[in-house]
Amino acid sequence: MSYTKRFDSRKFDEPREMEAKVGIVKRADGSAMFRMGKTIAIAAVYGPRQLYPSFLQNPETGILRCNYDMLSFSVTDRKRPGPSRRSVEISLVTTNSLLPAIDLSGFPNTVVDVFIQIIQADAGTRCCGICAASMALADAGIPMKDLVCAISVGKVGDKVVLDLNKEEEDHQEGATDIPVAMMPRSNEVTLLQLDGEVNKEDLIQALRYAKKGVDQIYKLQKDALKKKYGGIKNE
Ligand code: ADP
Repeated sequence: MSYTKRFDSRKFDEPREMEAKVGIVKRADGSAMFRMGKTIAIAAVYGPRQLYPSFLQNPETGILRCNYDMLSFSVTDRKRPGPSRRSVEISLVTTNSLLPAIDLSGFPNTVVDVFIQIIQADAGTRCCGICAASMALADAGIPMKDLVCAISVGKVGDKVVLDLNKEEEDHQEGATDIPVAMMPRSNEVTLLQLDGEVNKEDLIQALRYAKKGVDQIYKLQKDALKKKYGGIKNE
């Protein structure tokens, strides 16, 4: 059976409605909110600050530590609080997707902590979290090469689609989910995961769609930062 029309009537290469804000957690050094449809992530950054226990310190550079979690009420069935294998994995891939964009060499022996909370989950939460986290890092004044933009692509039935929602991920014929993160200025891919199966042609098409989504996210992120800080040089 072919997937002729998306459940929410979007075009196959159309992301969900998105929203971005910075500076939402006043006590944090930097913070942001990113929303993709019904998926909402907030990120709060603390640091650079001295890292303890001190044997973890690196005298050459600061380190980045991301912590991803979903609130109990973020999904319909209450999610058990606390870390899980899934949250540990997502925290790790989030850290790795953000690392190429930041430079902590000027902050030896320190840590930058990034806390990501998913307030509402409707698929694509790791991507939404990465989008919020990169804005929060910029808001905290961390030296960065570029922002990191992330969006999920994949296959639902026989169609390549951009930004799957939960209903699509749960499609009866199965869905393939490919979270992608990029630094738009250099087009460097900093995250690429694959849950499902895809052939070469469809993957190329999916990555084209991902780039389209990334460009839209980038604009939203920059607009939100400009709203707080005014113009950004070297656009
Ligand atoms: P991502 O959110 O990055 O797409 P997954 O593919 O692991 O990551 O999860 C897909 C979706 O499944 C989540 O966005 C969320 O809507 C739902 N989900 C994940 N974990 C749980 C859970 N413990 N309880 C209920 N729903 C969950």
